[in-house]
Amino acid sequence: LKSKLPEIGTTIFTIMSQLATEHEAINLGQGFPDFNPPGQLLELVNKAMLDGHNQYPPMAGIPALRQQIASKMESSYGHHYDWNTEVTVTAGASEALMASILALVGAGDEVIVIEPFYDLYIPVIRLAGGTPVIVAMDAPSASCPSYRVNWQAVQDAVTPKTRMLILNFPHNPTGIRLQESDLAALETIIQKTGILLLSDEVYEHLVFDGEGHLSLSCSPILADHAITVFSFGKTYSATGWKIGYCCAPAPITAEIRKVHQFNVFTVTSPMQFALAQYMQDRTHWQDLPAFYQQKRDRLVKGLLTTRFKPLPANGTFFLLADYSQISDMPEAEFARWLTIEHGVGAIPVSAFYRDPAATESNHRLVRFCFAKRDDTLNTAIEKLAGA
Ligand code: PMP
Ligand code: GLN
Repeated sequence: LKSKLPEIGTTIFTIMSQLATEHEAINLGQGFPDFNPPGQLLELVNKAMLDGHNQYPPMAGIPALRQQIASKMESSYGHHYDWNTEVTVTAGASEALMASILALVGAGDEVIVIEPFYDLYIPVIRLAGGTPVIVAMDAPSASCPSYRVNWQAVQDAVTPKTRMLILNFPHNPTGIRLQESDLAALETIIQKTGILLLSDEVYEHLVFDGEGHLSLSCSPILADHAITVFSFGKTYSATGWKIGYCCAPAPITAEIRKVHQFNVFTVTSPMQFALAQYMQDRTHWQDLPAFYQQKRDRLVKGLLTTRFKPLPANGTFFLLADYSQISDMPEAEFARWLTIEHGVGAIPVSAFYRDPAATESNHRLVRFCFAKRDDTLNTAIEKLAGA
């Protein structure tokens, strides 16, 4: 059978979750909470079903939800999106990303992706007929202990064929966030090139140490060129609901909807009604940074009692840990070994690189997810101490 994606196998998240289940390991691999969404939100979903919201909602999402989203974008990031023409409710952030790439990238177009990267982008660029152009982040060094984007390298990668730059901050898997200086560097690139920006901001509320999230929509220059993508799965601890949204200027949104309407047409109705109501309470997402910071600190403190060395992370619900004091095994092998022999699942960081084999010769890192109950994290730390 002729494959359109011959080099793509099953995603690392599925593989590592299956392995964790098989070996009854604590799963700190795939990113999902091991606790429920807020009880009141669950009740609202139940009510929406009983109230009869069980048929096709409007293609772009119910007005009440899109109005809430537009109002949130304005109050959080200062950008006014027209709820009717610029906000689209999608089947998770994944569908927003896929619809954006399929709608806007064509044969011969280049799309710049910053490495390490979330696994969805490259295969979808290929499906669209585009060419991924990969720009490596600067790796941690003695003078700067965390990853950094090299904006000059991004600028240098732009050619007349460049259609889009994909960004993801707070960043999976490194946990870094955008600073004002990054936005300024991006503005310079956009003013010179006018390319499209696809900004995966699913971890917008998971930013720590007193710093807020900088959305690309905070900058009028960037917002004019950007599709910003979000996920209710992360914000409401409901990754299994697969509901998210994207915001973009009306002409861009119109193109995205052409794909969205034939991909899923619309997304689950009762969840939309429940979320529209629940979003009116802003305290939930205002409380999230403190809630997750406490979990990050618990895991960091725990890891410091083991032979793992955590890297600094001030966003997302992931952190990277160096295991070179424990083993010289390559990352994929180490992650399997840790799951099977020590009962803790993790993701090899090489899975976020174009060439995992080459990456494995450079570093010894795994990604842990700390979106877990405190007792789960405590047990995981005890097990990791044995490694
Ligand atoms: N982007 C990033 C960076 C992610 O980590 C994830 C994963 N959860 C997604 C997109 C997909 O989000 P969703 O589950 O809402 O499709
Ligand atoms: N985004 C999640 C992660 O990085 C995984 C989502 C998925 O399994 N596709 O762990």
